[in-house]
Amino acid sequence: MAERSNKGNLKYKKDLKCSVAKKCGGCDYINSPYDKHVKEKLEKANSLIKKYGKFDGIVSMDNPYHYRNKVSAVFGFENKKIIAGTYEKNSHRVVDTKNCLIEDEKAGSIIQTIKKMCVSFKIKAYDEDTGFGFLRHVLIRVGKKSGQIMVVLVTSNVIFPNKNAFIKVLRGEHPEITTIVQNINNKNTSMVLGDREIVMYGKGYITDELCGLTFKISPKSFYQVNRDQTEKLYSQAIEYAGLQGDEVLLDAYSGIGTIGLIASRCVKEVISVELNKDAYKDAITNAKINNIKNVKFYNADATHFINDLAAANEKIDVVILDPPRTGSTEEFIAAVGRLKPKKVVYVSCNPETLARDLEVFKKQRYRFEKGMVFDCFCHTGHAEGVCLLTRN
Ligand code: SAH
Repeated sequence: MAERSNKGNLKYKKDLKCSVAKKCGGCDYINSPYDKHVKEKLEKANSLIKKYGKFDGIVSMDNPYHYRNKVSAVFGFENKKIIAGTYEKNSHRVVDTKNCLIEDEKAGSIIQTIKKMCVSFKIKAYDEDTGFGFLRHVLIRVGKKSGQIMVVLVTSNVIFPNKNAFIKVLRGEHPEITTIVQNINNKNTSMVLGDREIVMYGKGYITDELCGLTFKISPKSFYQVNRDQTEKLYSQAIEYAGLQGDEVLLDAYSGIGTIGLIASRCVKEVISVELNKDAYKDAITNAKINNIKNVKFYNADATHFINDLAAANEKIDVVILDPPRTGSTEEFIAAVGRLKPKKVVYVSCNPETLARDLEVFKKQRYRFEKGMVFDCFCHTGHAEGVCLLTRN
């Protein structure tokens, strides 16, 4: 249980336990001591890459709680009472995650209010099995630095009964909410968000600040869930790149453009490639918001794109890649080998595919120089790693 210290900060008892951890499956290690778990994470990552090198350490969090800036909840019933939470692993049973220790606290409190409002407004929670009911999910995104909060109400139907009164009551209880969006998902799918969106209040998006730049976050945008740790991770990636100001940098798997835009201040030019169209569009918007002009964005498969760069004999000095959990491809790495950048900085959210890709980089004469692990997903089995590879 969390306690408030007299300074108003949250203080946690040593024997902190989450009673629903097993059912929820969100953070498998919440009930073991944080320092021990962090040490094990580093050891595990190091054992995976031991053939190629060693991470210098792991950057943990001083307060590894309530870091998640993206929180979603489904609604269900327990003893005839409405509950909000997440689906139990491999089932449609809802687990009540009322006092979740990794999710943003304000988001948690907004979800509790919406839960109560479902009763007073006679809103029926959607039932995945029968297809009846109105409210499917609530998704909340918090700009941890900006303080802006977006509430996305995912509904099965476009007609929102008592809409204006609903907005008024919700905002009355939570004036910190800066925008409310209705998302309509009438498909039989496990995807949270549907295609259609109606802005109910505010701008329909929030912004947040990362490494001194402003980023636009729409309901569907990809944005790292742990902002503070991401800032440290990106700073490390850019430091490893050792930029002098005259380089051409390739930012591959660039998402909404974060790493490339942050690095753009230290180089001549950035070329950024991303497969997801929405993320690519957000990246262009993010360049405009920050008045950055030396980044070119491409909406393409990173492997196809880098093959084209290599075929055209383009000059690339540094490559930063941040692929999804599945890692990069042999073909991508072979093209890096042909482009011969001096440095490659690999940002990885999966040490297993990193190890596999390091083997391919080795064949292309890129050696693991140094690396660092970042605990971005505290209390879960996941870890982010960043490493510098240099050409022999
Ligand atoms: N660097 C960004 C995004 C990292 S997540 C950030 O930190 O915010 C990985 C990104 O790779 C996602 O945005 C995903 O859409 C993108 N992606 C996945 N497969 C891809 C491919 N084959 N080519 C290019 N981008 C891809």
